[in-house]
Formats: sequence, C-alpha cells, structure tokens
Amino acid sequence: MKQEQPLIFEISRPGRTGHSLPENDVAEVPVEKLLPAECIREEAPELPEVSELELMRHYTALSVNNHGVDTGFYPLGSCTMKYNPKMHEDIARMEGFSHVHPYQPEDQIQGALELMYHLQSCLCEITGMDEVTLQSAAGAQGEWTGLMMIRAFHEANGKPHRRKVIIPDSAHGTNPASARVAGFDAVTVRTNEKGLVDIDHLKEVAGDDTAALMLTNPNTLGLFEEEITEIASIIHEAGGKLYYDGANSNAILGITRPGDMGFDVVHLNLHKTFTGPHGGGGPGSGPVGVKKDLLPFLPKPLLKKEADGYRWDYDRPASIGRVKPFYGNFGINIRAYAYIRTMGAKGLKQVSEHAVLNANYLLHKLAPYFDVPYERYCKHEFVLSGKRQKKNGVSTLDMAKRLLDFGYHPPTIYFPINVEECFMVEPTETESKETLDAFADAMVTIAKEAEYEPETVLNAPHTTVVRRLDETTAARKPVLIFKPNKNAQG
Ligand SMILES: *Cc1c(COP(=O)(O)O)cnc(C)c1O
Repeated sequence: MKQEQPLIFEISRPGRTGHSLPENDVAEVPVEKLLPAECIREEAPELPEVSELELMRHYTALSVNNHGVDTGFYPLGSCTMKYNPKMHEDIARMEGFSHVHPYQPEDQIQGALELMYHLQSCLCEITGMDEVTLQSAAGAQGEWTGLMMIRAFHEANGKPHRRKVIIPDSAHGTNPASARVAGFDAVTVRTNEKGLVDIDHLKEVAGDDTAALMLTNPNTLGLFEEEITEIASIIHEAGGKLYYDGANSNAILGITRPGDMGFDVVHLNLHKTFTGPHGGGGPGSGPVGVKKDLLPFLPKPLLKKEADGYRWDYDRPASIGRVKPFYGNFGINIRAYAYIRTMGAKGLKQVSEHAVLNANYLLHKLAPYFDVPYERYCKHEFVLSGKRQKKNGVSTLDMAKRLLDFGYHPPTIYFPINVEECFMVEPTETESKETLDAFADAMVTIAKEAEYEPETVLNAPHTTVVRRLDETTAARKPVLIFKPNKNAQG
C-alpha cells in the first residue's frame, strides 16, 4: 500500500536543516534598533526542522493533492473546465507583454494596445456586438457593468423608474446578485415543462417598470431557448433591454451570436470559453459587449484606433466610469487572443460542435441510469436528477463524493435550483471518447451501488486524503494555517 506522506511537523527533528548559508560577514545590528519592541518575538517560532529532500517531498505531495484539469476529468457544469493550452503561458510570459507597465506612455506600449484592440474586434465578431470593453475582471463583474450601463441608458432616456430585472429561475446565482448590486429588483420568470422560459409568464412580468431581461442561452439546463426572437420582442416592446450571460459560450461559437438573437449587452468569461486557467479565484476576464445605443455608457477609457496609433479615449461624458484599475487583466486577454488566433473561425466552430457532441454522447450513455428531467438533445451541458437514487436514501451529494474515489472531479450539483437532486454535467470539447466512456462507467457503477450497496456510497469518499468535510464550516470558518500539537485544528 502507498505510504502516506507524513505531516511536516511530525518529521521535524531539532537541528535538522535544509539550507546552508555563507557566514555572516556584515556587522550585526541589534534587532531592537531595527524593529519596534512590540514586533519582536519573545520565543522562536515553531517551524519544522527538515532536510531539503523532506521539504521537497512535502510540497510535491501537497501539489498533487489538488484536483485540476491537468490531473483529471473535471465535468463541472457551467464552469467549462476545458484544457488550458500551455503554449498560451509561454506567449503571456513574452517580455514585451509581461514587462510592460500600465503607467507607461501610450506610444511605448502600442503592441499591447494593438493586441487588446484586435481581441475586442474578435469578440465583437463572435458576439455580434458593436463595441467591447475588456475592463471587467470576471463574469459577475461583467454582469454588473452591463446592468449599470442599462441603468444609465434608462436614466438618460428619462425612465429612471425602470428598476426591475427579469431573471429565469434556472439562472446562475450571480444574475440576481448583480441585479441587486446594480440597484435593481430581481423578478423571477418561470421555466416551463420543456426547460425553457415560460412565455406566458414572461408576458405577465414584463412591463413599463422592466429595465432588462437577463438570459443565458443555451440556458443552465443546457437547452437552447427556441423562442428567443419572441422573447426578445416581448422585452423590447416593453421598453427593456436584453442582457446575455455568455459566461459559457461553448455551444454557440461560430454557430449563432447573441447580437443576432436580439441581445443588447453580452458578457463573456475568457477564463471559461476562451481557455484562461481558472478555479481558485485567480485572475479572470469578463469583457462586456454592447450594441450601438449603449455605447456612450461603456466604462472609460475606451481604446481607439487613430491615424497615428492606438489611444485611450477618456473624453466620454456619459460613461459609467471605471470598473477596474487600469485596463483589465491583460495576461488573461493575451491567452484568449492566442486561443482565438490559433483556432481561427473554423476551429472555434468545431469547438462548439465537439462540445455539444461530447455532452450529448455522455447524456445518452447516462440516461438509462438516472432521471433525465428534460429529454431532448442538449447543448454543451446537461442536467440529470438523482431522484431515483434518493428513494434508496442515496443523495446526489453522496454520489458526487463517491466519484472522488474514481479520480474525478464531480459535476456541479444542486444547481440549477429548479431541478431536484441535480447533477449538471459539462464535459467540454477537449476530452476524448475514452475519457467520457470511463466517466460514464464510473457513474453507472455508482448508480448500481446506490441500489445494491448504498453504504459504499453513503460513506464515500474512501480513498481521498481527507474524508467528508463539513463544507459549511470549511467555507465560513476556514483554518488557513497549520498549528502543530493542536489536535482540534488539524
Ligand atoms: C461562471 C458563471 C458566471 C460568473 O462568472 P465569474 O467569472 O465566476 O464571476 C455567471 N454566469 C454563468 C452562467 C456562469 O457559468
């Protein structure tokens, strides 16, 4: 059996060391002269004393305890955990990109500005919008930026009373949150039995207090809103704007565009669809695109191409202002641009075709073993329900935990909230048929265990470094430092 890596404090031996420094040849200054009294330790810190090799093993062991897309399949629905090509890392590290500073004068950073300008143009083309800003750093910030522009638009048109934002009950949680933070009230529109916006209900809730409808299409059930043009005209006739949550655009690249569906504002997550590495809250990029009549309200400065080069335009009196220091997370924008240029228009279309094919293949393999709330072809992701297993006392959470024993990151669970015991699966286009088959086998095994040996699933995971955690406490009261000899806090 594999030996577990001992905790570094357990292997500590007094006097053992992993470094050797040359003798000090500078006169020592008493510490009292360097630091104020309250900053000086009375006792030496309890640091582990280990050799260099032991230290190496400690950090290497820690590094492989995390599951990432580079270590295994990660079908986390609505998160698009596709492969992040390593070539992009080399490109982002090129000195001309990594050594520039945003305070440098424009004429010294024309190359960086040109890249941003081209990326904006590509994103305009992909989404069918007239102008794009790269400033916002995440999907949620993009939503807020878009809604602030919609608010400014209504106020500029003498309609400040338009304060309701309509959002389907299947929406991502950030949608109602962004609406509230932007000063709106969120109003729910129901999902019908086909998993789509209930048009009759939409007609009821849309009115002259409507500021906007926020929609994800394909929605978070992985289904395309077939009535999208009708939905768009209901909102436009009511005087509202259409906001497209394009965080996961993996099903539509080169196939359809939010601008053509009737949307006025779009945000994209470059850290999902466009291969920016994500997870763990690292830097993201949530560009926002708008149609012409929202253009005056875009955050400033706006990048302009003039006869003598690229310039930042600050002279934008109707702008909602800055939403982020400097010009966005440039490093993620470089990666996304590298991706778009590598794939080209045809390649991006293939991305979406393969993402949809992979999702449907997996759905088809799993459908006999789980409840399928919406029996239709899906787009880039799909939902399953664990209702059948729940009758045996095995919940979707239990099955997700059991998947860890098979070496998989579980799908998203209990979201969207309108599906009972929900699994939301997004395989992405970068996975092979063999990986999908192996994952399907694991899911089927777990479904059978839930029926014939539920204890195995209820007590899972069995093989991971830590067993079941109290997730609420872990999130609310995280223990971020290791304290030796305090068993209560291991
Ligand atoms: C991920 C996601 C968001 C939020 O994006 P962040 O970058 O995490 O803020 C919004 N909407 C949908 C549909 C998403 O999947």
